[in-house]
Amino acid sequence: MRIAFLGLGIMGRPMASNLVKAGHEVSVWNRTARQHVDGAKTAVSPADAAKDADVAWICVADTVAVERVMFSDDGVEQSLREGMVIADSSTISPSATVRFAQRVAEKGVQWVDAPVTGSKIGAESGQLIFIVGGPTETVQSMEPLFKAMGRTVIHVGDVGKGQSAKICMNLQIAMIYEGFAEGLTLARKLGVEPQKMVELVQASMIRSGVVDYKASFVMRRDYSPNFPLRLMHKDIHLLLDTAKEVRVKLPALETVDEIYELSSEEGWDDLDYAATIQLLEKWAGLGGPVK
Ligand code: NAP
Repeated sequence: MRIAFLGLGIMGRPMASNLVKAGHEVSVWNRTARQHVDGAKTAVSPADAAKDADVAWICVADTVAVERVMFSDDGVEQSLREGMVIADSSTISPSATVRFAQRVAEKGVQWVDAPVTGSKIGAESGQLIFIVGGPTETVQSMEPLFKAMGRTVIHVGDVGKGQSAKICMNLQIAMIYEGFAEGLTLARKLGVEPQKMVELVQASMIRSGVVDYKASFVMRRDYSPNFPLRLMHKDIHLLLDTAKEVRVKLPALETVDEIYELSSEEGWDDLDYAATIQLLEKWAGLGGPVK
């Protein structure tokens, strides 16, 4: 298939590269021109990338970025043709997704929201999980593309439902990590060895994939970004805004948001979200390495 891939960040670049490796004809575009992908054509604008594409696949930071890529003067909209599909793997607003889908539908174009989980490692190894919203037939027709980049497709429902499920998942990731970080910090203050605490957590009913993934990074104090704090913070705001739209209250998440606000003020936006534990340690008067 001919694919336009828009957005070559931590996730987009390896995803585009896996499409090339699977034999697809790929044209890539990134806002800042420094990025390219071996075996793909580099386009000068989203419209240029999407010119003859069957599918335009987006993976950019947030709702504003998707709007820019799609609907600005040199956006994908300029190149829409009936029968094309837009697939969006960015994590963005469910309600904006529905609006974007309605706008492209006027030109006979289908929108599939396909946010992902699996982080940088999943993107690089082609093991992502796609959380999908859109018409069944269209989603099925994209099977070879999902296969090139991921291992599982969970088709949640209509357009927007993929984004809805994805943000509700990230709510839980942020809270599970916060629970781990607070438990670990208090345990340390009480003189429990962090490694023993992790061992206990992972041997018990509170074991979690989040801790499986993050504990070794925390132990090494390696906060290089797999999922940057600024993006989890963006998702927390997406969640709070979306919850407001449907009149749901999320008091625990509001508190976690404060941790992210303060972490951002500390200048940790480009570190991994695991870096938020440093704030708890600072408040607890715990300096130095975790080990
Ligand atoms: P990233 O490394 O920060 O890359 C963001 C991409 O968006 C870059 O290509 C950036 O272009 C582009 N961008 C930002 N603002 C833009 C704008 N106004 N107009 C056009 N392009 C813009 O982020 P990422 O980790 O790849 O994440 C991409 C999406 O996947 C996000 O929605 C994120 O929440 C989601 N996600 C990430 C992970 C993860 O573990 N990293 C996991 C699941 C989902 P420049 O290069 O020019 O800045």
